[in-house]
Amino acid sequence: MQSDNHIHTHYCPHGSDHIMEDYVKSAIRKGIKRITFTEHAPLVIEDTTPEKDSAMALENVEAYINEGRMLKKKYLADIEINLGFEVDYIEGKEMETVRFLQKYPEMIPYSILSVHFIKLSKDDYFCIDYDKESFLVKIEEVGYEKVTAIYEHTLNLALSRPFKEYTPKTIGHITLIDKFKNSYPFENQIDWSGILKKIKSNGYHMDYNFAGLDKPYYKETYPPEHLVKKAVELGIPLSYGSDAHHPDDVGRYFERSVENG
Ligand SMILES: [Zn+2]
Ligand SMILES: [Zn+2]
Repeated sequence: MQSDNHIHTHYCPHGSDHIMEDYVKSAIRKGIKRITFTEHAPLVIEDTTPEKDSAMALENVEAYINEGRMLKKKYLADIEINLGFEVDYIEGKEMETVRFLQKYPEMIPYSILSVHFIKLSKDDYFCIDYDKESFLVKIEEVGYEKVTAIYEHTLNLALSRPFKEYTPKTIGHITLIDKFKNSYPFENQIDWSGILKKIKSNGYHMDYNFAGLDKPYYKETYPPEHLVKKAVELGIPLSYGSDAHHPDDVGRYFERSVENG
């Protein structure tokens, strides 16, 4: 595979300490022709996770961009390097998010819009992918059906071009809600065909995210093969992403792509 469009850096506190250049070198070693850094944009709500380590701090944004630009120039002859963000879609905080994105219009085409947080009630947001324990506690407390219904609702909002021209081009790991699925006996009732149709009709690209293969309670790509195949049938452009948080992750498992057989 020629490009990896979902890569994190040491600017996110839950990543590794490797500098961005290490990811570039790893990509070149693996024969990848294009990479896109998509660091988690600063959160527009207070981080609800225990370590408060979900995203890049606001004061690091300029350093992230400068380091990316420097590498883009330095490696011009070897690899194409693009810069974007992984932006959280946070229901009810659209204005705040647009205000941030307006400052970086050149990053929008390379950015990914993802749902990691769902709004349970006024100012009560829950991070769905933090860990298995907190997810199990939440579905016990709120109900699995309700949690997944709110996720579906939130994903639909994220797919409605919520930031108009500032909406990122790609929708991130659409089946993230299933990250811990092998640790409980339920199956979500989400209308995935409806989600795919919306991706198509609103002109998004789809993050074909291989990080899920390394998640112990998931072990598939986001989304799984049958949905990737459906997306291809619908003519949705796939955006390959390793979701690397370590240089070794760049391009991980791309050879297992459904497009390879
Ligand atoms: Zn991350
Ligand atoms: Zn993500």
